[in-house]
Formats: sequence, C-alpha cells, structure tokens
Amino acid sequence: MNKTAIVTGGSRGIGAAIVKMLVMEGYNVVINYNKSEELAKKMKEEFTSKGYCVETFKADVSKREEVKKLVEFTIEKFKNIDVLINNAGISQTKLFTDITDEDWKNMLSTNLNSAFYMCQEVVPNMIHNKKGCIINISSIWGITGASCEVHYSVAKAGADALTKALAKELGPSGIRVNSIAPGIIDTDMNKHLNEKEIQEIEDEIPLCKIGKVQDIAKCVKWLIEDEYTTGQVISVNGGWNI
Ligand code: NAP
Repeated sequence: MNKTAIVTGGSRGIGAAIVKMLVMEGYNVVINYNKSEELAKKMKEEFTSKGYCVETFKADVSKREEVKKLVEFTIEKFKNIDVLINNAGISQTKLFTDITDEDWKNMLSTNLNSAFYMCQEVVPNMIHNKKGCIINISSIWGITGASCEVHYSVAKAGADALTKALAKELGPSGIRVNSIAPGIIDTDMNKHLNEKEIQEIEDEIPLCKIGKVQDIAKCVKWLIEDEYTTGQVISVNGGWNI
C-alpha cells in the first residue's frame, strides 16, 4: 500500500516542489491550501490525469478546527499518515516598533501554532502505527534572527524548538521530527526583492546563488528516507550562515 503525506501550503512555492517530489516517490499526497484554490485544483488534475493519487483540502492551518478537518479527511481517505510536512507560512518586514498585536498574533498563529495543531492532530495516528516522519520548514532567521522580522524570527525559532522537544518525546514511538531551515529560496515570498537586492544577497552566499524550491524538496526526500536523524535543524542555505 502507498504511503501517505500531508503538505501544508502545498499548492505553490516550496510546498508545491515537495508535493511533486512526494508524488514521484509514490506517496498519496494531500495538498493543503488556503487561498490558492485554483493552483491546488490544477495540480490535482495534472497528477490524477497521470494516474497519481492526489487530494486537495482547503484549510487555514492557523485555526485548530480547520486543521482537525484536514487531518480527519486524510485519515478517512487513506487510513494512515506517514509523513507530515509543516510548510505553510507567511513573512512580513516591519520595524519592531511598528509590529502590531494583530501582526504578531497572525505571524505566530500561521507559522507556529499551525505546526502545533498539525502535529497534535496527526501524532495519535503515527503513534498507533509506531512510525512517522514530521518535517517543519523553519528558516535561517529562526537561527540567526533577522532585523525587521522579529515576529517571523521568533515563530521560526519556536518551530525549531518544537522539532527538538517533540523528537525527544516521540522517538520511542518510532516517529522522527526534524526542521529544514532554508536560506533564501526563489518563491513568491521574495518577489518584493529587486534584481539589485537579490544580487547583494547572492554576493553574501558562499555558493553565490539563491536557492531553488527543488533544493528544499531534495532535503525533504533525504530526511524521509533516512532512519537515524531526528531532532535536527538542517540548514539548506548555500552556506549563507555557517
Ligand atoms: P510562498 O510561495 O509565499 O507560499 C506560502 C505557502 O503557505 C502557500 O502555499 C500558502 O497557501 C501557504 N499558507 C500561508 N498561510 C496559510 C494558512 N493560514 N493556511 C494554509 N496555508 C497557508 O512561500 P514559500 O517561500 O514557498 O514558503 C514556504 C515555507 O518556507 C514557509 O514556511 C516559509 O516561511 C519558509 N521559508 C521560505 C524561504 C524563502 O526564501 N522562500 C526561506 C526560509 C523559509 P495559499 O496560497 O493557499 O494561502
């Protein structure tokens, strides 16, 4: 029987590359989306027309009730959940003194509470099966901190702490939990940067280029296949932070 994976925010950017990789590896994949319904449906159509098993599910993962429904749908459809990729996220650039309570709440609930809810809803199924792999997509900024992105940095550092603590708690149940901390990856999240700004960043990166979504998907593939890595924050950043 095929294994099953859920990818939050799976219809575009890094999430879409992870979905594609998982589908090619033979997984049944549930693509979670919130706003990008058309993209999600298009992906499903493309994959199912080629005989792959893909479902879509709309859920705002910052909300417990919607996460609950996403996980219930997946279990009803596929019975087991083997892989959970907590990828959905938002970013915002603001001076610390300009961050409102609403900005803070929104950032933390989308980037961190979402992973808490997803893990809590999925883990009983994984414990029952005595196996599972959870990957949180965090960020270089959770490790180093980013100026004008304090709330984002805090949320991502929280995701890494969740990874480490949960890995200890779930290791005896055969469940591995890791983070991937990307540097800068070419997606919509960085579309506000102009060519000159990108060039300046590339000048700071030892490998002299920003990353591609496939760089993150390859790391996910490795972490899923690996059997002895847990509680780690893997930096995929071209050496930007060493
Ligand atoms: P992106 O292209 O902006 O995509 C963000 C994804 O998150 C979309 O699929 C979006 O879905 C989903 N999402 C946002 N809020 C959601 C919510 N409330 N519920 C469900 N889905 C939600 O960004 P990306 O670059 O692929 O980022 C993916 C992850 O990598 C994020 O966690 C980000 O923080 C992290 N990351 C990215 C970079 C980078 O340089 N790109 C670097 C470090 C870390 P909808 O469109 O359907 O709303």
